[in-house]
Amino acid sequence: MVVLRPRVFVTRQIFPEALELISAAADTEVWPDEQPPTPDQLLHKLESADGVVTNIMDRVDAPLLESSRQLKVVSQLGVGTDNIDLEEATRRGVMVGNTPGVLAGATADVGFALLMSAARRISESSRWLQGGNWEIQYHPMHWLGVDVHGATLGIVGLGQIGLEMAKRARGFSMRIIYYSRTRKLDLESEYGLEYMDPAALLRTADFVSLHLPLTPETRHYISERELRMMKPTAILINLARGAVVDSQALYTALKEGWIRGAALDVTDPEPIAHDDPLLSLDNIVITPHIGSASTASRLETCLLAARNVVAGVQGQRLEQCANPQVYQAKGI
Ligand code: NAP
Repeated sequence: MVVLRPRVFVTRQIFPEALELISAAADTEVWPDEQPPTPDQLLHKLESADGVVTNIMDRVDAPLLESSRQLKVVSQLGVGTDNIDLEEATRRGVMVGNTPGVLAGATADVGFALLMSAARRISESSRWLQGGNWEIQYHPMHWLGVDVHGATLGIVGLGQIGLEMAKRARGFSMRIIYYSRTRKLDLESEYGLEYMDPAALLRTADFVSLHLPLTPETRHYISERELRMMKPTAILINLARGAVVDSQALYTALKEGWIRGAALDVTDPEPIAHDDPLLSLDNIVITPHIGSASTASRLETCLLAARNVVAGVQGQRLEQCANPQVYQAKGI
């Protein structure tokens, strides 16, 4: 009897070590282009696939799940799953894997770099210098920034990345306040954190750092109202998803000085349009979603996603699953 091997589609090139893991268990096809497959191309590729390795730019919605009749597992490279219709996947018994635990440290490193860059005007002054503008000698009143050490960091969403931000902030003698859906008394005492409601946090923090997943509830979590609550000296850091912040309101806030500055690793949309007004501002630092992009972290992410997809096509529980409710229906 011929036993058919499962089929896995991988929507981008990933580390060869991870592809080897998948190929050992399944017939594997990798999308060869730098640009992602279009929705139609993805739909076509998944018609006969048992598993797929995705990232945030691949929309896995109800019509795609409807036409992917063989699909057992969607294995996301990353923690956030806002590109996937989780409810529909669960209803159809499709397991959704993600990769918490292997990228929080790397992402918080970038978060702290962004925070420091905005506070001490690192990127802004570097852009200025490289533009050929440095003609006046050292001047005691030029390029004044704000201190990071001793300032108050407000963390919104105290999950894995939020906690890593707190650990880094302790090294800078910062006061750390936080708001999260669930209060975490154990972490408060272990890391010296103070819980505050969202409005009090916005009014108190010198740096507001966002670490929420993007959900219907958190879309435009920071909008005009919230920006107006922040101190005029405050800096907003968004490392979560672009749409957690209303970018038009942010532009006005930065332009009119409601807040001092912003540092973003994520934008809405991605890539950000070349003529987006945010790009015209001096008091902003923007990086192209590089939070988890250290070699070590990305390798671990790819390996975990590979293990997830292999487990899924073999009908086993995933190492990390975003919708574990499916297990009961599947009896695994
Ligand atoms: P996580 O461990 O799941 O933490 C998210 C935290 O937000 C949890 O503590 C959660 O709830 C809290 N939360 C959820 N909804 C909330 C709400 N409405 N109000 C207040 N708190 C809420 O995830 P993570 O690993 O820290 O990642 C967070 C997000 O960062 C991801 O979803 C992803 O979008 C983004 N991310 C970005 C990059 C990048 O490269 N820039 C890399 C990785 C992840 P509880 O308080 O109940 O625990």
